[in-house]
Amino acid sequence: MNCYICGWEDGTELISDRDYSDKELVHCPRCGAYEISGTVKATLAHTGADLQLSAYLRDWNLLTGKPAQLNSQNVKSIRESTTWYSTSEKMERLLGSLAAMSNYPGDQLHLELERDMVLARAEEPREFDFYLKSLVDRGLLKAQGKWTFDGPPPLILSPEAWDAIESRPGVDLESAQVFVAMSFSEAMKPLYTDVIEPAVEKAGYRAYRVDHDPHIERIDAKIIAEIKKSRFLVADVTEQKPGVYYEAGYAHGLGIPVIWTVHNGDLKNVHFDTRQYAHINWTDGDDLRERLGPLIEAVIGRGPRG
Ligand SMILES: [Zn+2]
Repeated sequence: MNCYICGWEDGTELISDRDYSDKELVHCPRCGAYEISGTVKATLAHTGADLQLSAYLRDWNLLTGKPAQLNSQNVKSIRESTTWYSTSEKMERLLGSLAAMSNYPGDQLHLELERDMVLARAEEPREFDFYLKSLVDRGLLKAQGKWTFDGPPPLILSPEAWDAIESRPGVDLESAQVFVAMSFSEAMKPLYTDVIEPAVEKAGYRAYRVDHDPHIERIDAKIIAEIKKSRFLVADVTEQKPGVYYEAGYAHGLGIPVIWTVHNGDLKNVHFDTRQYAHINWTDGDDLRERLGPLIEAVIGRGPRG
């Protein structure tokens, strides 16, 4: 069979039909294992191979060790969350994925360019080949043999790679706290209390917002400490407050995921440096409420309180 997501054939198999439902558990050598509903299968039949979704599924498998469950609601959210990666981010992510694939330090990784290019969010096998060779040149990967026309020899992560990975600041994966960065204006208050806070709670987390004077924008030690404690951050950049960008940028630098949202009418004003990230561009509170919860569950997963 061909994979429903990416079209890969060699080694793709149906693990099981789920009892009394239209769900199937599939294993694809490129996407990993995933569970898919009949509705999603029907919609994918029209769109063709989706390498972005494939990359998402492979990451999900590597990070959680479990199959992702695809339904029509979360597929939409996953697509909305697809984001743009710079070349250096692609290589950094690739190194992290290769570390996650290593069963122990020194484990040999047998990669195939066409199959495994999603690990680097690469669009072409040659692009993926370039990243692998660059990591070898930088001493982060060691080649256990000669490169052939077909692709790389077995590769292992070098001690320098493990140093680089282990010295990265960590994210507290057990934390139930979600840091909400947004404007403190009177007009924006209901958006927090009526929309963002309940959506975060419903997904199994606890929303945290710094309550301070809307006229004084400052980043203090308390804010930094609260960001560090958070599982992820929701950044609503409506009204374009610099503090929101700072808090989101700080979290991003620590490797803490950021979910970006902005009012439709303010989308054109979003800062140049962050415009490449996917934003939920909401029209009103109801719209944001409908989209935020499913996006959180798709990108981060349900929280410890859910
Ligand atoms: Zn696949």
